[in-house]
Amino acid sequence: MEKKILIQKLWNLVNLAEDYYSTGFKSRHPEIKEAPVKQVENGEKGQSPGKRLESIKQEILTCKKCSLHYGRTNAVPGEGNLHADIFIVGNGPDEEEDATGRPFAGNAGNYLDKWLTAIQLDKGRHCFVSNIVRCRPPQNRDPGLEESRACFVYIDEQLAIIKPKVILCLGRIPGQILTGKLTTSVAKLRDQLFSCKGIPVIVTYHPVSVLQDQSLRKPVWEDLKRLKMILDKQTG
Ligand code: SF4
Repeated sequence: MEKKILIQKLWNLVNLAEDYYSTGFKSRHPEIKEAPVKQVENGEKGQSPGKRLESIKQEILTCKKCSLHYGRTNAVPGEGNLHADIFIVGNGPDEEEDATGRPFAGNAGNYLDKWLTAIQLDKGRHCFVSNIVRCRPPQNRDPGLEESRACFVYIDEQLAIIKPKVILCLGRIPGQILTGKLTTSVAKLRDQLFSCKGIPVIVTYHPVSVLQDQSLRKPVWEDLKRLKMILDKQTG
Protein backbone atom coordinates (compact mmCIF):
# COMPACT_ATOMS: atom_id res chain seq x y z
CA MET A 1 0.00 0.00 0.00
CA GLU A 2 2.83 2.40 1.03
CA LYS A 3 4.62 1.58 -2.20
CA LYS A 4 1.48 2.52 -4.15
CA ILE A 5 1.23 5.92 -2.38
CA LEU A 6 4.94 6.60 -3.04
CA ILE A 7 4.51 5.81 -6.75
CA GLN A 8 1.48 8.14 -6.92
CA LYS A 9 3.48 10.97 -5.27
CA LEU A 10 6.38 10.50 -7.67
CA TRP A 11 3.95 10.54 -10.61
CA ASN A 12 2.41 13.83 -9.37
CA LEU A 13 5.91 15.34 -9.12
CA VAL A 14 6.71 14.36 -12.71
CA ASN A 15 3.47 16.02 -13.90
CA LEU A 16 4.23 19.18 -11.90
CA ALA A 17 7.72 19.42 -13.41
CA GLU A 18 6.31 18.99 -16.92
CA ASP A 19 3.67 21.67 -16.37
CA TYR A 20 6.21 24.09 -14.86
CA TYR A 21 8.47 23.68 -17.87
CA SER A 22 5.61 24.16 -20.31
CA THR A 23 4.44 27.38 -18.56
CA GLY A 24 7.96 28.80 -18.79
CA PHE A 25 8.03 27.93 -22.49
CA LYS A 26 4.66 29.59 -23.14
CA SER A 27 5.86 32.89 -21.66
CA ARG A 28 8.38 33.13 -24.53
CA HIS A 29 5.50 33.17 -27.01
CA PRO A 30 3.06 35.82 -25.71
CA GLU A 31 1.76 36.56 -29.22
CA ILE A 32 0.17 33.12 -29.53
CA LYS A 33 -0.68 32.55 -25.89
CA GLU A 34 -4.39 32.66 -26.67
CA ALA A 35 -4.20 30.08 -29.49
CA PRO A 36 -7.28 27.84 -29.09
CA VAL A 37 -6.47 24.38 -27.82
CA LYS A 38 -9.17 21.93 -28.76
CA GLN A 39 -9.57 18.84 -26.64
CA VAL A 40 -8.73 15.72 -28.62
CA GLU A 41 -11.31 12.98 -28.49
CA ASN A 42 -9.39 10.63 -26.24
CA GLY A 43 -7.62 13.35 -24.28
CA GLU A 44 -8.38 14.43 -20.74
CA LYS A 45 -8.62 17.88 -19.22
CA GLY A 46 -5.50 19.02 -17.37
CA GLN A 47 -3.13 16.76 -19.33
CA SER A 48 0.48 17.92 -19.68
CA PRO A 49 1.58 18.97 -23.22
CA GLY A 50 3.49 15.71 -23.68
CA LYS A 51 0.43 13.65 -22.85
CA ARG A 52 -1.79 15.76 -25.09
CA LEU A 53 0.64 15.24 -27.98
CA GLU A 54 0.58 11.50 -27.30
CA SER A 55 -3.25 11.55 -27.26
CA ILE A 56 -3.26 13.22 -30.69
CA LYS A 57 -0.82 10.60 -31.97
CA GLN A 58 -3.10 7.80 -30.79
CA GLU A 59 -6.11 9.50 -32.41
CA ILE A 60 -4.27 9.82 -35.75
CA LEU A 61 -3.21 6.16 -35.69
CA THR A 62 -6.86 5.07 -35.71
CA CYS A 63 -8.36 8.05 -37.58
CA LYS A 64 -11.03 7.45 -40.24
CA LYS A 65 -12.02 11.07 -40.87
CA CYS A 66 -11.33 10.78 -44.61
CA SER A 67 -11.12 8.03 -47.22
CA LEU A 68 -7.30 7.99 -47.18
CA HIS A 69 -7.44 5.62 -44.20
CA TYR A 70 -8.56 2.78 -46.53
CA GLY A 71 -5.19 2.57 -48.29
CA ARG A 72 -2.74 3.18 -45.47
CA THR A 73 -0.38 0.67 -43.93
CA ASN A 74 0.43 3.06 -41.10
CA ALA A 75 -0.75 6.57 -40.36
CA VAL A 76 2.15 8.99 -39.87
CA PRO A 77 1.36 11.13 -36.81
CA GLY A 78 4.52 13.28 -36.97
CA GLU A 79 7.44 13.39 -34.57
CA GLY A 80 10.00 15.67 -33.02
CA ASN A 81 10.70 17.90 -30.08
CA LEU A 82 7.75 18.93 -27.93
CA HIS A 83 9.40 22.36 -27.62
CA ALA A 84 10.45 22.64 -31.27
CA ASP A 85 11.20 26.07 -32.76
CA ILE A 86 10.27 24.90 -36.27
CA PHE A 87 7.13 23.03 -37.29
CA ILE A 88 7.76 21.38 -40.65
CA VAL A 89 4.84 20.36 -42.87
CA GLY A 90 5.48 18.01 -45.80
CA ASN A 91 3.16 16.55 -48.43
CA GLY A 92 1.30 13.26 -47.95
CA PRO A 93 3.33 10.26 -46.72
CA ASP A 94 5.20 8.34 -49.44
CA GLU A 95 5.71 4.58 -49.61
CA GLU A 96 8.54 4.56 -47.06
CA GLU A 97 6.72 6.81 -44.60
CA ASP A 98 3.62 4.64 -44.98
CA ALA A 99 5.68 1.50 -44.29
CA THR A 100 7.48 2.91 -41.24
CA GLY A 101 4.88 5.32 -39.84
CA ARG A 102 7.63 7.98 -39.67
CA PRO A 103 7.69 11.32 -41.53
CA PHE A 104 10.53 11.98 -43.99
CA ALA A 105 11.84 8.45 -43.52
CA GLY A 106 13.79 8.05 -46.78
CA ASN A 107 16.02 10.04 -49.16
CA ALA A 108 13.90 13.18 -48.82
CA GLY A 109 14.42 13.06 -45.05
CA ASN A 110 18.18 12.63 -45.40
CA TYR A 111 18.28 15.59 -47.75
CA LEU A 112 16.16 17.67 -45.35
CA ASP A 113 18.66 16.84 -42.57
CA LYS A 114 21.42 18.33 -44.75
CA TRP A 115 19.41 21.51 -45.33
CA LEU A 116 18.92 21.97 -41.60
CA THR A 117 22.54 21.21 -40.79
CA ALA A 118 23.58 23.89 -43.29
CA ILE A 119 21.82 26.49 -41.09
CA GLN A 120 23.11 24.96 -37.83
CA LEU A 121 19.86 23.25 -36.93
CA ASP A 122 19.13 19.67 -36.01
CA LYS A 123 15.87 17.98 -37.02
CA GLY A 124 15.46 16.01 -33.79
CA ARG A 125 16.41 18.88 -31.51
CA HIS A 126 14.87 21.93 -33.18
CA CYS A 127 11.96 20.60 -35.24
CA PHE A 128 8.65 18.81 -35.18
CA VAL A 129 8.05 17.13 -38.54
CA SER A 130 4.55 16.44 -39.87
CA ASN A 131 2.58 16.02 -43.10
CA ILE A 132 -0.42 17.85 -44.48
CA VAL A 133 -2.29 14.50 -44.49
CA ARG A 134 -1.20 11.64 -42.24
CA CYS A 135 -2.21 8.73 -44.50
CA ARG A 136 -0.66 7.89 -47.85
CA PRO A 137 -2.69 8.97 -50.88
CA PRO A 138 -3.04 6.18 -53.49
CA GLN A 139 -0.26 6.06 -56.13
CA ASN A 140 1.42 9.00 -54.35
CA ARG A 141 -1.10 11.45 -55.83
CA ASP A 142 -1.39 14.91 -54.28
CA PRO A 143 -3.67 15.08 -51.24
CA GLY A 144 -7.09 16.52 -52.13
CA LEU A 145 -8.50 19.69 -50.62
CA GLU A 146 -11.16 17.87 -48.59
CA GLU A 147 -8.62 15.36 -47.29
CA SER A 148 -6.22 18.14 -46.34
CA ARG A 149 -9.01 20.04 -44.59
CA ALA A 150 -10.13 16.94 -42.69
CA CYS A 151 -6.58 16.30 -41.52
CA PHE A 152 -5.79 19.94 -40.69
CA VAL A 153 -7.35 19.49 -37.26
CA TYR A 154 -4.20 17.58 -36.24
CA ILE A 155 -1.84 20.34 -37.43
CA ASP A 156 -4.05 22.79 -35.55
CA GLU A 157 -3.83 20.79 -32.34
CA GLN A 158 -0.11 20.06 -32.60
CA LEU A 159 0.64 23.75 -33.28
CA ALA A 160 -1.38 24.76 -30.22
CA ILE A 161 0.70 22.46 -28.04
CA ILE A 162 4.17 22.96 -29.53
CA LYS A 163 3.87 26.72 -30.20
CA PRO A 164 6.79 26.87 -32.67
CA LYS A 165 8.49 30.11 -33.69
CA VAL A 166 8.13 29.40 -37.39
CA ILE A 167 6.31 26.99 -39.73
CA LEU A 168 8.19 25.64 -42.75
CA CYS A 169 5.98 24.31 -45.56
CA LEU A 170 7.70 21.96 -47.98
CA GLY A 171 5.93 21.87 -51.32
CA ARG A 172 2.86 23.27 -53.02
CA ILE A 173 0.02 21.55 -51.16
CA PRO A 174 1.17 22.34 -47.59
CA GLY A 175 2.11 25.85 -48.75
CA GLN A 176 -1.31 26.48 -50.27
CA ILE A 177 -3.26 25.03 -47.34
CA LEU A 178 -1.35 26.87 -44.59
CA THR A 179 -1.37 30.21 -46.39
CA GLY A 180 -4.92 29.87 -47.71
CA LYS A 181 -3.67 30.70 -51.24
CA LEU A 182 -5.12 27.66 -52.92
CA THR A 183 -4.16 28.48 -56.50
CA THR A 184 -0.72 30.05 -55.98
CA SER A 185 2.48 28.27 -57.04
CA VAL A 186 5.41 27.59 -54.69
CA ALA A 187 7.49 30.01 -56.77
CA LYS A 188 5.10 32.82 -55.80
CA LEU A 189 4.36 31.65 -52.25
CA ARG A 190 8.05 31.57 -51.33
CA ASP A 191 8.38 35.24 -52.20
CA GLN A 192 6.12 36.27 -49.32
CA LEU A 193 5.97 35.86 -45.57
CA PHE A 194 2.64 34.53 -44.32
CA SER A 195 1.28 33.87 -40.89
CA CYS A 196 -0.84 31.02 -39.55
CA LYS A 197 -2.30 31.46 -36.04
CA GLY A 198 0.19 34.24 -35.40
CA ILE A 199 3.17 32.07 -36.40
CA PRO A 200 5.33 33.10 -39.42
CA VAL A 201 5.02 30.68 -42.36
CA ILE A 202 7.78 30.12 -44.91
CA VAL A 203 7.06 28.13 -48.05
CA THR A 204 9.76 26.44 -50.09
CA TYR A 205 10.17 23.49 -52.45
CA HIS A 206 9.87 19.88 -51.27
CA PRO A 207 13.21 18.01 -50.98
CA VAL A 208 12.00 15.47 -53.56
CA SER A 209 11.45 18.28 -56.10
CA VAL A 210 14.96 19.61 -55.45
CA LEU A 211 16.48 16.14 -55.82
CA GLN A 212 14.81 16.00 -59.24
CA ASP A 213 15.66 19.55 -60.28
CA GLN A 214 18.97 20.90 -59.01
CA SER A 215 18.14 24.42 -60.22
CA LEU A 216 15.86 24.70 -57.18
CA ARG A 217 18.82 24.47 -54.78
CA LYS A 218 19.52 28.20 -54.94
CA PRO A 219 15.98 29.37 -54.05
CA VAL A 220 15.77 26.79 -51.25
CA TRP A 221 19.06 28.07 -49.82
CA GLU A 222 17.64 31.61 -49.83
CA ASP A 223 14.51 30.39 -48.03
CA LEU A 224 16.57 28.53 -45.42
CA LYS A 225 18.61 31.66 -44.72
CA ARG A 226 15.35 33.60 -44.27
CA LEU A 227 14.08 30.94 -41.89
CA LYS A 228 17.27 31.17 -39.82
CA MET A 229 17.05 34.96 -39.76
CA ILE A 230 13.48 34.82 -38.39
CA LEU A 231 14.52 32.34 -35.73
CA ASP A 232 17.59 34.34 -34.72
CA LYS A 233 15.50 37.52 -34.48
CA GLN A 234 13.05 35.83 -32.13
CA THR A 235 15.80 34.35 -30.00
CA GLY A 236 17.34 37.81 -29.76
S1 SF4 B 1 -5.43 11.48 -43.75
FE1 SF4 B 1 -5.77 12.47 -41.77
S2 SF4 B 1 -7.98 12.82 -41.67
FE2 SF4 B 1 -7.63 11.31 -43.29
S3 SF4 B 1 -7.85 9.32 -42.25
FE3 SF4 B 1 -5.66 9.86 -42.23
S4 SF4 B 1 -5.32 10.87 -40.27
FE4 SF4 B 1 -7.54 10.86 -40.65
